[in-house]
Amino acid sequence: MKLILLGAPGAGKGTQAEVISEKLNIPQISTGNMLREAVKNGTEYGLKAKAQMESGALVPDEVVIGILKERIAEDDCKNGFILDGFPRTVPQAEALDAMGVEIDKVVEIFVPDEKIQQRLGGRRVCEGCGASYHTEFKPSKVDGVCDKCSGKTVLRKDDAPETVLERLKVYHTTTAPLKEYYDSKGKLVTVVGQEEVADTSRLTLEALTK
Ligand code: AMP
Repeated sequence: MKLILLGAPGAGKGTQAEVISEKLNIPQISTGNMLREAVKNGTEYGLKAKAQMESGALVPDEVVIGILKERIAEDDCKNGFILDGFPRTVPQAEALDAMGVEIDKVVEIFVPDEKIQQRLGGRRVCEGCGASYHTEFKPSKVDGVCDKCSGKTVLRKDDAPETVLERLKVYHTTTAPLKEYYDSKGKLVTVVGQEEVADTSRLTLEALTK
């Protein structure tokens, strides 16, 4: 099965992609995670992407399309995959079509902007292992310290309130038109994000059979 998860930053795409990935035994492909890794390792792609990522802007299409194309050519993608954070522009969706990738379903996870601002502002991520916490909803046992590896938990640069506003703006202007793009192909289903992650997961898995 080849799936796309669509939704504003902070809507919970990553978490739901993980659940589906485990349930259906297909790899989760997150361009955001791949780019963060590239920035951390100082690769050529990473150097190109760093400034845009930190300001909340999108990385140029040709960079992400290149990364995605290489990734889905790998062996573990033979039986399908779930795309988390790609495509984010109409040209990226067209590039997928041009690669001959037949998408089965696109799931939009809808969460209102105010809720997203609250979620991302409180998110803390471990610098060491990447584990994710929330100051209000999922605090680490000791403030600022990761439960899993004792690394330091920090606010991601792009989760700063002004950057979140920019990311939401980019989502509404540039990514949201993809809903129409896939709806017109009869592939879009919308799931309303719930307070409890497990409830959203149940709805998301149900949506895949619709
Ligand atoms: P994410 O973790 O998915 O929110 O991605 C973090 C950042 O990586 C985004 O704000 C963009 O700067 C960049 N990024 C990730 N995926 C894409 C994409 N498909 N197109 C352009 N930029 C992307």
